[in-house]
Amino acid sequence: MTRVLDRATQEALAARLRFYRELGLTELYRRPVDVSKFAEIEGEASAAASPQFHSSTVPQENEQISARKTVYPAPEIGAEVPAAGRETALRLIREDIGDCTRCALHKGRNKIVFADGDAHARLMFVGEGPGADEDAQGLPFVGRAGQLLNNMIGAMGLKREEVYIANIVKCRPPGNRTPEPDEANTCSQFLFRQIDVVRPEVLVALGATAATYLLGQRQPLAGLRGRVHSVRGCRLIVTYHPAYLLRDPRQKKEAWADLQIAMRELGLKTGNKGPREQGNEAAE
Ligand code: SF4
Repeated sequence: MTRVLDRATQEALAARLRFYRELGLTELYRRPVDVSKFAEIEGEASAAASPQFHSSTVPQENEQISARKTVYPAPEIGAEVPAAGRETALRLIREDIGDCTRCALHKGRNKIVFADGDAHARLMFVGEGPGADEDAQGLPFVGRAGQLLNNMIGAMGLKREEVYIANIVKCRPPGNRTPEPDEANTCSQFLFRQIDVVRPEVLVALGATAATYLLGQRQPLAGLRGRVHSVRGCRLIVTYHPAYLLRDPRQKKEAWADLQIAMRELGLKTGNKGPREQGNEAAE
């Protein structure tokens, strides 16, 4: 017997899983189902007793847990592009992407979201993937989470036009789900090329998915925050995704502490107040 959850439960479950992911919890295991209770609830005691029920839907104690899905190693760092050629080099990467069908995400997208910002930026933000607003406009971080990111950038004493913003995947995953490893591995090859062209001094990974594919390894977000990593010749800081901060504004203080590490690495004055203290709650 296959039990299909109703739509509201599916959406609630998806929201809960996104919440766990933002906390850095990416490996979840199901407990075996208590068949008798399930049958009572469904009023299907006879179905619970059927061999088909046991064999097809109830995880057994000795069931193998599949191996972790792979994060491909990043390609070699590309040759340095002179400052005068960076915009052209980025345009060539965009042309190379074309009307991309390299992964399944192309099926549901409206617009490819390449990037936004300055080809000569000292600071680059990397998120997970486009949402509905980004998919409609073809630009990264333009919805509510984008407004909060803009506020965070402003609190750092910078303008959005002064930084470079991109995502691990350039097409919107259906229902804003997490990109599958094959999708993220395929699309991030373009992101790595963008990083090699822009060569920011500091990269900020927004959320666990960005951190995973930039660092090439899965680790809980909590263990990655608060220190400086090295990726493709850039210093990398890991913090929460703005969408997560919208759901849990209490973590803004922690995110601001992460951004202050980035500011120190860039030699920016760190005395500014964070986004919340600046009265930017409108973004929430
Ligand atoms: Fe191509 Fe990236 Fe879109 Fe996949 S997500 S179809 S690799 S542009």
